[in-house]
Parts: sequence; structure tokens; C-alpha cells
Amino acid sequence: MSGLYIHFPFCLSKCIYCSFYSVISDKYLKLYYPALIHEMNLRNEYLNNSPVETIYIGGGTPSLIHEADLRSIINAIYQHFRVSENVEFTMEANPEQCTSDYLKNLKNIGVNRLSIGIQSLNNQILDYLGRKHTAEMAIDAVENACKAGFDNISLDLIYGIPLRSTQQWIEELQKALKLPIQHLSAYALTIEENSILIKRFQKEGTPFHYGKDQDEDLALRDFKTLLSIIEESPLNQYEISNFAIPGFESIHNSNYWNGTPYLGLGPSAHSFNSHSRCWNKASIKQYIETMNSSEPVLECEELSNINRFNEAILLGLRTIKGINLTDIQKKFGEVLFHQLLRNIELLNPEWYQLVQDRFSLSQEGLFLADFISEKLFVTED
Ligand code: SF4
Repeated sequence: MSGLYIHFPFCLSKCIYCSFYSVISDKYLKLYYPALIHEMNLRNEYLNNSPVETIYIGGGTPSLIHEADLRSIINAIYQHFRVSENVEFTMEANPEQCTSDYLKNLKNIGVNRLSIGIQSLNNQILDYLGRKHTAEMAIDAVENACKAGFDNISLDLIYGIPLRSTQQWIEELQKALKLPIQHLSAYALTIEENSILIKRFQKEGTPFHYGKDQDEDLALRDFKTLLSIIEESPLNQYEISNFAIPGFESIHNSNYWNGTPYLGLGPSAHSFNSHSRCWNKASIKQYIETMNSSEPVLECEELSNINRFNEAILLGLRTIKGINLTDIQKKFGEVLFHQLLRNIELLNPEWYQLVQDRFSLSQEGLFLADFISEKLFVTED
């Protein structure tokens, strides 16, 4: 089994927190589609003809893709890859493009899972984040998706935002969970390199840490509130930031966490084939030039056994199921397995549970997942 990711690198404007690669000019838009299809042609052997179980079009703002262009992309996918009959086909969408007609077309074309970036249901916060939609548009988008026949809808929310009170966060969560959704992803507002937020902080002289939550105490408080509200809903937490009605967990993301190979197409997209990771440069101009020269120029990194082991720990511990120790032993060998057991013994027992051969983090441990993973990492020497 394998996955296919397509990066659509165009947006109408830049949100303040965003570090995803996207451009706000459509100068290269017309040239992007043939380049993408050309890349499928050049790299279709990467997945060794294994069936594609998930397709994910992310961005950028994929809901800016017109129906005819999306049809060409999908036709090319089916021409170049062996797509499973029950493929999970997700597309990210921004509320402002989620009209009834657009969503009906997406459904007819074969998209069967929609991930709508609503981020907040408070207009003041949406404005602060630099989003171009309102809370009312976000609600309409979800309702339109439901009416268009989507029965697998995910929402993205952001927490840890300084101008939002706990009461407002509770109200937004309650409103979001009343919508006809099956899945929710919630992320803390972090300070990412190349984001507008970081430039703003630099200009103001506000202290910050790269890759950290904007306000760690607030993020933790909001996260705890989120977990308590989720508990009263039909959704279950299955990964630190992801919640779903049972049976609606994202297969695509779950495959990232369990090490299934995937091919990423488009500028900045990453690919993984069990022993190495490759990525396209984050430049639409270079991407088009590269595809015109018929030779994909990729940056690649061979992953050692230790790299793959550390990654399996990091990603596995973010999931509620945790990691299967027998699998770790089989995949990475006795030395790393026994090192892991020794390191687990050094952890605070309140951070984890060990049931048969499954090692997972407790609720308290999940708050410290990255820190605990680092304690379990093995270094190359
Ligand atoms: S968050 Fe999404 S819509 Fe906003 S700039 Fe980034 S990719 Fe574009």
C-alpha cells in the first residue's frame, strides 16, 4: 500500500502563521498543471506499482483549482498509478471557495474526504490570523459540503491564540462540534520560520522561539479544554492533534505515522520509500524549469536504521495506540529494541502505559510527547 500527495502551491493571500510553501501570484498557475502531470510521468515508478490507498491534495489552497484542471489531474493520476478501488481521496479546501456547485463537482469527480481550513469561528480571530473568510462562511462551507454528499468532513482549528479567552474557545469548540463533521484537527499557534508572525515579532522586538507555541501556557490550557470538550462528543482522540468518529480516522495521515511509503508531487512535496526521503525544492519557478528539462531534481536523504527507529518512536508516540514493541524488535533489531526497553525504564511511570507489547503515552505523557521521544532516541556514534 502507498499514498500520493499533491502540493498545490497557490494562495490568494498569506495567513500570518503559515510556513507552508505557497505563492500569492498566479503567474505560474497555467504552467503548474502540465509540470505536475509531467512529474507523475517521470516518477510513477517510485511506488513500485504498489496500490495507492490514499490521495491527498494539499497546499496552498487546492480549492482554487478549477474543475476542468482537477479532472485533468485526476485522469493523470489514474493513468500513472494503480489506484485502489476504495481510495481515500482528500482535498483541502478554504471556506471561501466552498460553494454548493464547487463541492458537488468535487464529489462527482471522486473526492470523498474534505478537509476544510476554518481555523476559528470567531471573526476577530480570523481577521488576526489573516484568514479571508468569516465564521458564517465557515459554517456555510461545512453545511454545503454535507448537502453535496460529503460524509467524511474534517475541520482544522487553531488554539493558543492570545486574543481568545477560554470561554470563547469553549464556545467555538461547541459550535464546531455541532456541525456535521466526522473529523477534527487542532493545532497550537506556533512561531514558524518565514511566517508573517515571525517578521512581526522581529520588528516589534517581541521575544519568540522558532517552532514553539506562541504562548506555551495558553496552548496547554486550550489543549486541556479541547480534550475535555471532545470527551463529551462522539469524536475520539487518535493522535495528539487529531480526533475522529470511530472509522473516520484519516488513513493518509495514519500512514505517515506508521511508515507507509508515499510519493509527494509538486514544489516542496516530500516523498518517502522506507529507506530514504526525497523532496522537491520549495520554488514554483524552479519546479517548472526542472520539469521542462525532463529530469526531476530532488534532494534526498538516506535514512539509517537509527534515523528510522527515532522517527518510528517520534511518530508512534504521537498516536493514542502508541508503538508495538514486537514490531520495533522485528524492524530494527535486538540492539535498538533492548536500548528502547532500558530507556523506557528510566521514564516517569506516570507518563506511559505498557500493556502486553504496546507502549503508549498517558494523557499526561501526551502533553510531553516530543520531550519523551527525545529521551528514547538513540544517537549515531
Ligand atoms: S494557511 Fe493555507 S491558506 Fe493560509 S497562506 Fe498557508 S497555505 Fe495559504
